[in-house]
Amino acid sequence: MAALCRGRHRWKRTNCLYVLTRNLTGKYDYDLVVIGGGSGGLACSKEAAQLGQKVAVLDYVEPSVKGTKWGLGGTCVNVGCIPKKLMHQAALLGTAVKDAKKYGWQISGPVSHDWATMAEAIQNHVRSLNWGHRVQLQDKKVKYLNIKGSLLDEHTVKGLTKAGKETILTAKNIVIATGGRPKYPTNIPGAMEHGITSDDIFWLKKSPGKTLVVGASYVALECAGFLTGIGLDTTVMVRSIALRGFDQQIAGLVTDYMETYGTKFAWKCAPKRVDKLSSGALQVTWTDTQTGSEHKDTYDSVLWAVGRAPETKALGLDKLGMQLNNETGKIVLGADESTSVPNIYAFGDIGEGCPELTPTAIKAGKLLARRLAGQSTELMNYDNVPTTVFTPLEYGCVGLSEEEAEKRHGKDGIEVYHAFYKPLEFTVAERDASQCYIKVVCERAGDQKILGLHFTGPNAGEVTQGFAMGFQCGATYSHLLQTVGIHPTCAEEVVKVNITKRSGLDATVTGC
Ligand SMILES: Cc1cc2nc3c(=O)[nH]c(=O)nc-3n(C[C@H](O)[C@H](O)[C@H](O)COP(=O)(O)OP(=O)(O)OC[C@H]3O[C@@H](n4cnc5c(N)ncnc54)[C@H](O)[C@@H]3O)c2cc1C
Repeated sequence: MAALCRGRHRWKRTNCLYVLTRNLTGKYDYDLVVIGGGSGGLACSKEAAQLGQKVAVLDYVEPSVKGTKWGLGGTCVNVGCIPKKLMHQAALLGTAVKDAKKYGWQISGPVSHDWATMAEAIQNHVRSLNWGHRVQLQDKKVKYLNIKGSLLDEHTVKGLTKAGKETILTAKNIVIATGGRPKYPTNIPGAMEHGITSDDIFWLKKSPGKTLVVGASYVALECAGFLTGIGLDTTVMVRSIALRGFDQQIAGLVTDYMETYGTKFAWKCAPKRVDKLSSGALQVTWTDTQTGSEHKDTYDSVLWAVGRAPETKALGLDKLGMQLNNETGKIVLGADESTSVPNIYAFGDIGEGCPELTPTAIKAGKLLARRLAGQSTELMNYDNVPTTVFTPLEYGCVGLSEEEAEKRHGKDGIEVYHAFYKPLEFTVAERDASQCYIKVVCERAGDQKILGLHFTGPNAGEVTQGFAMGFQCGATYSHLLQTVGIHPTCAEEVVKVNITKRSGLDATVTGC
C-alpha cells in the first residue's frame, strides 16, 4: 500500500484506492501509452503495436508564443529537419541558378525568390506528412489521441483535450517522448513580445524580411543560411562561439563561408532590448561585449535561436518525484531508458544525454518497444552518431572533434590527416572552395583507429552517412587508404587524405 501510494500529495491519496484495485486486478487499458507523437513516440508506438501490444499515443501541440500550431509528427516533421532541409534546398537552388549561367543556361532577367510560393509548397508537404502519420497509426492499430498527457501515477495518464475534457488511460508501461521547445531569453525586454523562434519561421505566410538571428547553434546558422540564400538581409548575433560542441576549426570554416556568402555576423555581441517602432520595424539594441559600446539597428524580424528547453511542464513529473537533471531539466535515464519511477520510460530530446536528433529518437524508441514487448534485450548505442549541419556549406561529422580527441588522447596521441579540396562542380562555376575541407582524426599509435571524421562541402550528409558505417565498424586509417574512391566525387577525397597536420605541409589537393 505504501509503495503504491508514495508521496504526500492530496491528489495521490484520493487516487489511492483506485490504483490499488486496478493493480490487484492487473488490468490496464493498454500495454503501452506513449506521451508525445514526434519522431521517437511514433516510432516506439508503431513498433510496439506491430509486436502485438495494445498501444495508445497522445500528441498535443501547445501553440508557440506567436500562436503557430501544427499537426501530428513532432518537431522534425513540422518545425525542424523537414521544413529546414527544404528551405535549405530552396537556398541551394539560388546558388545553382547563379552557377547555371556559367554552365550555359540562358536565364533572362533578374532572378528573385518568392517566400509565399516556397512556404506554401513546404507547408503542404508537411501537412501531407501529418496525414501520413495518422494513416500509419490507424493501419498499425495504434490509438491516436489528440490530447495533452500528464502522469497521475506509474500506470495512469490523464489526458486533456483542447476543450478541457478529461480522459484517464491506464497502461502497464508509459513512455514519455515529449521533446523540447525553443527558449526565449527571459532578461531582454521585448524579446518574447516581438521575436519569433524556429517554431514560427517555417509557418510564416509572408517573408520575414531583414532578419536578426540571435544565437550560433546549428539551428541559428542553418536558419541564417537559408534566409541569406533566398536573398534576405540576414545578421547572426553571436555572444561567444559558433557551433559549440562541434570541431571548432570546422565551425570557423562554416561561418567564414557564410560571411563570403553574404550572411553578416555580429561577433561577441549580446542583445539588450527589442522595441517596436511606429513604422512596425523592430529596433534592436545590443552591446558589444568586448568594447562595452551600445549599438542599434532595425529589422523586420528577430529570430531567437538560443537553445531549447525540455517539454516537461505539463507532465506533472514533480508529483511522481521523477529525477530530473538540475541544469538541463531533462529526465535522468538508465541505459534502458528507464526513469526513476517504475514502469515509466523516456527518450529522445526529453532524455538527459540523448543526442537531440531524429534518427537517435527513432532508433531508441523502436529498441525500447522491442524490450518492453519482451522481444529483445538490445540497448540503444548512443556512440558514433553521425550528423550534418545544413549550412550553405554543409558540414558532416562522426566521432570526436579534434579538441575532444586531444583532450582524451593527448596532442601526441593523435594524428590528424587533412585536405583542402575543390569540388569539381565549383570549377566551371568559378566558386570559391577555400572552406571545402576534410579532417580525419586518428589514434597515432597502432592501427591508427579513426576517432573522428569531418567533411565540409556539397552533400555532406550523404558523404558522412556512408563513412559512418565504416566508423561504426572500427575503421582505421589503413582501412581508409585501402578503400577505392569513386571518381569524380567529393567523397573520394576522404579516402585520399595523406597530409598530416603535424607535418605542416600544404594540405591543398591538386589534380585528380
Ligand atoms: C530547426 C530544427 C532543425 C532540426 N534539424 C534536424 C536535422 O536536420 N536532423 C536531425 O536529426 N534532427 C534535427 N532536429 C532535431 C529533431 O527535430 C529532434 O531531435 C526530434 O524531433 C526529437 O524527437 P522527439 O520524439 O524526442 O520529440 P519531438 O519530435 O519534439 O516530439 C514531441 C511531441 O510531443 C508533443 N507533446 C509535448 N508535450 C506533450 C504532452 N504533455 N502531451 C501530448 N503531447 C505532447 C509535442 O507537441 C511533439 O509533437 C532539428 C530540430 C530543430 C528545432
